Amino acid sequence: MFGDYEVVVGLEIHIQLLTKSKAYSSDSTEFGALPNSNISPISLGHPGTLPKFNHKTLEYGIRLGLACGSTIREENQFARKNYFYADLPKGYQITQDTTPLCNGGEVMIKDDEGNDKRIGITRIHMEEDSGKSIHDLDPYHTLIDLNRAGVPLLELVSEPDIRSPQEAYNYLTEVRKLVRYLEICDGNMEEGSMRCDANVSVRKKGSKEFGERTETKNLNSIRNVYRAIEFEAKRQIEVIEAGGSIHMETRGFDAVKGVTISQRSKEMAHDYRYFPEPDLQRIFVKEDEISSVKSELPPLPNEVFRRLTKDFELSEYDAGVLTEDKEFVLFFLDLCEHTKNYKAAANWMNGAVKSVLNDKTIHISEFKIKPQQIAEIIEMVDSGATSNTIANQKIFPALLENPEASPKKLAEENNWIQESNSDAISEFIEEALNKFPEKVEEYKAGKKSLMGLFMGEVMKSSKGKADPKMATQLLKEKLEQ
Ligand code: ADP
Ligand code: MG
Repeated sequence: MFGDYEVVVGLEIHIQLLTKSKAYSSDSTEFGALPNSNISPISLGHPGTLPKFNHKTLEYGIRLGLACGSTIREENQFARKNYFYADLPKGYQITQDTTPLCNGGEVMIKDDEGNDKRIGITRIHMEEDSGKSIHDLDPYHTLIDLNRAGVPLLELVSEPDIRSPQEAYNYLTEVRKLVRYLEICDGNMEEGSMRCDANVSVRKKGSKEFGERTETKNLNSIRNVYRAIEFEAKRQIEVIEAGGSIHMETRGFDAVKGVTISQRSKEMAHDYRYFPEPDLQRIFVKEDEISSVKSELPPLPNEVFRRLTKDFELSEYDAGVLTEDKEFVLFFLDLCEHTKNYKAAANWMNGAVKSVLNDKTIHISEFKIKPQQIAEIIEMVDSGATSNTIANQKIFPALLENPEASPKKLAEENNWIQESNSDAISEFIEEALNKFPEKVEEYKAGKKSLMGLFMGEVMKSSKGKADPKMATQLLKEKLEQ
């Protein structure tokens, strides 16, 4: 993709937390509320107000840290990051500068060849969001909505371990899955609940030193992160090949044109004058708090994936599709409490069930059929009471129409139980062979393609209910006697 060059990427991800109230006040964080309604003197930055720390932010930060295998810091200090902006009424952001809540750890991803790769985590720290400046609603003015001011964020900073746009894509997909499993963020990048800054540099393949990086800010979809990195790496290579050099700068991404644009250079960089936040006490994280969060940690995507491939012996592909969504895989695990045919269970989930969810654009939590009912269908197919085709094309659709029903009853009422009684099938075979005595001779003389004709006859006279596998078997035996 980049010729003699290699791209080096480190991502900073802002994760908006699903707390009920803001990071340092009791204002609501409800999304979509009337502009400037979730505010108070604290989020408006009135003088004399004091912040109060929302302990949920810490709990969610510990959850993410534990899931990444990070070290959780005991003594946490908040810091003021000072800058002037219209949507930041206090004139500073409360963040963590030198004492991030978490250090170290990793997120496992697939590299471009599909092998496991470790992306190191530098740090995770707690901070607050700013308000929102809206530039496209009024032709003459910028509108400001302060509902978001003070909403808690975690910032997750990766090591510069990412080596391609696809790896960045895979990493973000993993992180999004993780925060959704952990129920700390809805992961919707398009709505801004997860925002990503991409630090990109290039270097000649084989070189040990990193090149100078640029930082492309506020990417709002995983696809755009991919596009921005690809463009930015190519741009940097062109500059270097033309004899120029890369300077540290902040860039933006124009999603329509697919290009990154310089916003401010290092000379213009802010000096944030960080200093310890005097209005908030230090937060001490005790061992028992960490173990209590740990004991309540939900199942993690990687653990479930491992269980599916090892204990359930599913393919990596099947396990990958199943674990994309927590609720979906929990449904699958529930289903596996009722059947031992895990492969069939995975096929039903990733096939029929998934396509219903896609067609109706519903989530598994809105799916009306119960795991027990699907297990019942699997059992009917396995026992030969019905075929996979009938189960998929008749029983399952009928169940969708009538989700309270028992699949077995539905099949019986509609005559979808297939004949797997060998005596009954033998009678149909006898009938078919008697009907075409000369064809039987032709078959015996070597015209094996006549099998189709006999099978068709058997299916016809059994009204489609003969178990095809058994019928073929018995027909062969009979003809080769
Ligand atoms: P800053 O305050 O400058 O944004 P951070 O520590 O928040 O610094 O983030 C730096 C990010 O840049 C990290 O994700 C890190 O992995 C990444 N990074 C550092 N050096 C390079 C480089 N040479 N090329 C690409 N990414 C880099
Ligand atoms: Mg940065």
